[in-house]
Amino acid sequence: MPWRPRDPAVAELFHKGDPQELFADLREIGHGSFGAVYSALGAYGALPHASRPRDLRTNEVVAIKKMSYSGKHSNEKWKEIIKEVKLLQKLQHPNTIQSRGCYLRDHTAWLAMEHCLGSASDLLQVLKRPLEEVEIAAIVHGALRGLAYLHGLSIIHRDVKAANILLSSQGQAKLGDFGSASPSCPARSLVGTPYWMAPEVILAMEEGNYDGRADVWSLGITCIELAERRPPLFQLNAMSALYHIAQGQPPALQPAHWSALFLLFVSCCLQKQPWARPSSQSLLQHSFLQRQRPPEVLLELLERTKEALKGLGQLQRRRPQELHLQQSPGEEEEEEEEEEEEEEEEEEEEVELEELLGSSSSSLEQDLQEAAAGGEEEEEEEEEEEEDGEGPQVATKVQEETSSSCNLAELPGSPQDLAAASPAGELKMAAGEPKMKAGGGSPPPKWQRGAPRWLQGEHKTAGREPKMAAKEPKMAAEPQGVAPRSL
Ligand code: ADP
Ligand code: MG
Repeated sequence: MPWRPRDPAVAELFHKGDPQELFADLREIGHGSFGAVYSALGAYGALPHASRPRDLRTNEVVAIKKMSYSGKHSNEKWKEIIKEVKLLQKLQHPNTIQSRGCYLRDHTAWLAMEHCLGSASDLLQVLKRPLEEVEIAAIVHGALRGLAYLHGLSIIHRDVKAANILLSSQGQAKLGDFGSASPSCPARSLVGTPYWMAPEVILAMEEGNYDGRADVWSLGITCIELAERRPPLFQLNAMSALYHIAQGQPPALQPAHWSALFLLFVSCCLQKQPWARPSSQSLLQHSFLQRQRPPEVLLELLERTKEALKGLGQLQRRRPQELHLQQSPGEEEEEEEEEEEEEEEEEEEEVELEELLGSSSSSLEQDLQEAAAGGEEEEEEEEEEEEDGEGPQVATKVQEETSSSCNLAELPGSPQDLAAASPAGELKMAAGEPKMKAGGGSPPPKWQRGAPRWLQGEHKTAGREPKMAAKEPKMAAEPQGVAPRSL
């Protein structure tokens, strides 16, 4: 049943209607820490009091992020939802995802948003190759515009990474996922996804505040992610990675593959001292972004991704229009006809394939999971082969956990045990939760005693967790950011 909060200030954040009746045809298109994101048709118009009346008539496709606040920690979940909803509704910029209204039903908030084709991380998974420099420049330029806008409003995103940069069908890159954002600047809490976190965020509890420049660091890491398919240190467990980010030298791109301008841009973003890093606004002037590039570069990238997905869809006997990266309606018909012909031709072959692959499914999420799983397996096999053979000594197992599945609660010396030290109990490290969130306001002395245990001087040597030590030599052997060998 739809539900109305008693507090009028909170109630006004949500539409009165029952989302179950307002949205039809929900298909899962993404997954994150909280649950799932769906695409849906606004059956009676996705915008009950829209400023653009035509949207009421056109059954606009929207994305819906469903966030449950039932069960354990429901109060905290509810507070997080309110924070995200407030932020989402405040933002009006071509490079930040737009709200299409929020709803409540059965202890679940439905956040309706403009629909995008997928995230930059989705593209990497489908294409199974790093992006081209010009594609990276276009994506990063859009994301940076979004960041400059947020920073102008004193908002820090705190979770910039490829999975949170969405691409619209018009080829625009937009920042999404404001679930970790700080509505004020400076901030001091330990929040973010470990591999993308800036050193000053990791150290903030001890050393002081951070500002929007923390997002600039994460954007630099995202450049490496787009260029090498993984952020630096991804072969380490999250706690070890945090340690290295805070204590080690900043990572860099593999110089051989990229222009001097791109290398320079990334090194500007990855200045270890935040004061030496440019602000998002000034970084917009960087020659790497100002350099001429074809205006349709992202549209072409999306086209190529659709093609790759189509291949995947055909292989697994899935109709392209069932996939998340949708074609325009005209295209769909053509595709359908072509596909029917091809299907007939390949029928016999596919029957066999189907037996091998199991029954068909209709969500991109599954496609991506399978594609990613296939990729990982492939890579793991290759890596194992290399280990057995005479190939370079590299980490044998690429972490299977994606950024959204690493279980910090189980990591050695994880802030889990710091949760107890956080008097406000603000340190959240629930099992399966990808992001780190710890504390706020002034750091409690207890935290100061507890938090840096894994970052303190003595920990660097003798105190190192066994897992971390075990991983060390591999990391040293593997030059950071080895280009994926499957490509
Ligand atoms: P979380 O807070 O769990 O990380 P996100 O808001 O980042 O949730 O959404 C998770 C995934 O869902 C994204 O990485 C993306 O693949 C997909 N997604 C999110 N919002 C949209 C949208 N507006 N359009 C299309 N896909 C989306
Ligand atoms: Mg996300």
